[in-house]
Amino acid sequence: MVDLTERKRAEEEIRESERRYSEVQMELVHANRVATMGHLSASIAHEVNQPIGATLNNASAALHWLSKEPADLDKARDALNRIFANGNRVSEVVGRIRALFKKAPLRKEDVDINEAILEVIALTRGEVVKNGISVQSHLGDGLPLIQGDRVQLQQVIMNLIINAVEALSAISGDPRELVITTGKGEPDGVLVVLRDSGPGLSSLGLERIFDAFNTTKPGGLGMGLSICRTIIEAHGGRLWATATQPRGATFQFTLPARSNQAS
Ligand code: ADP
Repeated sequence: MVDLTERKRAEEEIRESERRYSEVQMELVHANRVATMGHLSASIAHEVNQPIGATLNNASAALHWLSKEPADLDKARDALNRIFANGNRVSEVVGRIRALFKKAPLRKEDVDINEAILEVIALTRGEVVKNGISVQSHLGDGLPLIQGDRVQLQQVIMNLIINAVEALSAISGDPRELVITTGKGEPDGVLVVLRDSGPGLSSLGLERIFDAFNTTKPGGLGMGLSICRTIIEAHGGRLWATATQPRGATFQFTLPARSNQAS
């Protein structure tokens, strides 16, 4: 009896510290998002700008040598060769950056989507309350487990909630509401729906918002939704947006159930 009680307590403690760990991690993810992206873009820009500048100079030199009477073909050829070398350098830099991101393998653990959502709702409560928003959750029963990276999936949910909070903060007068629903997806798996009563997605199209660097916010990066879609697709799911009636935006994503479970 004593053994069992102690084991149970120890297990609870582990769970609690895991939860705290993930809380801290989520906060860091959020706080660091802008800083990391800014830093990363600055170093990519630095690596890529120099060969692009050299390419432009060489292109104008080549045009100059070709426009001479008679054209100086040797000098034009040299300039074109330097363009070639610089082009190769840019594509090497891009290749190295891609390899860097591919290295991190996707973690595969069992994820209860409802639990993951409730944790993110708890983490975002401060922002929600501060902006006078009501968040309702309708979480379905008996949903299958997802296999994947819990922190990455929570990053997606967090991004969608923060986007909704930012959109809702822009309206005045009407109620600011966000409704989060989960249910069974087709043919199996889960469907998560976030419906807000904000201004909706009028100025950028329903698809363009998912492209990187598309933003309508003064300090925005426009990377959030593009990263969200990449994460959901890496988990075998789909993420899309529709308009909410009478107004607002709806974001939905599906995730397949863990493959070896009966659903
Ligand atoms: P960012 O938040 O940095 O702008 P995102 O990729 O997350 O980048 O979003 C891109 C754009 O999509 C936003 O600038 C905004 O115009 C639009 N958007 C995203 N979510 C919502 C929403 N819930 N309601 C209205 N517009 C939204």
